[in-house]
Amino acid sequence: MIKIEHIGIAVKNLENSNELFSKLFNKLPYKTEIVESENVNTSFFQIGENKIELLEATNELSPIYKFIEKKGEGIHHIAFDVENIETEMKRLENEGFVLLNQTPKKGADNKLVCFLHPKGTNGVLIELCQEIK
Ligand code: ZN
Repeated sequence: MIKIEHIGIAVKNLENSNELFSKLFNKLPYKTEIVESENVNTSFFQIGENKIELLEATNELSPIYKFIEKKGEGIHHIAFDVENIETEMKRLENEGFVLLNQTPKKGADNKLVCFLHPKGTNGVLIELCQEIK
């Protein structure tokens, strides 16, 4: 893994949270994007080298909806940049980690992504991401 790419925060209302985090960071999100496959609406803030992703459920099928029902708003996942996502997925699977998707899927912000089951990572949902070139 190369570095932390972003930290994802589950929010109930993206518009309200964009306002709140804009005040916190003293800057606006550089993009908002709906990810159909995940049933989420997202926004991204660039803070120096790091990014913060806010995620709002677009419907009740969304993993963010289920997360907030169970745990409330808060940190949802940590995403790491990888050089080659398929190589990294194979490596981690061989190490005994459970992949939530067997093939990389299209995530937000021009990335191929794969999630690891939090049961195998001390309760932390890990996202691997590789920039789509
Ligand atoms: Zn993410």
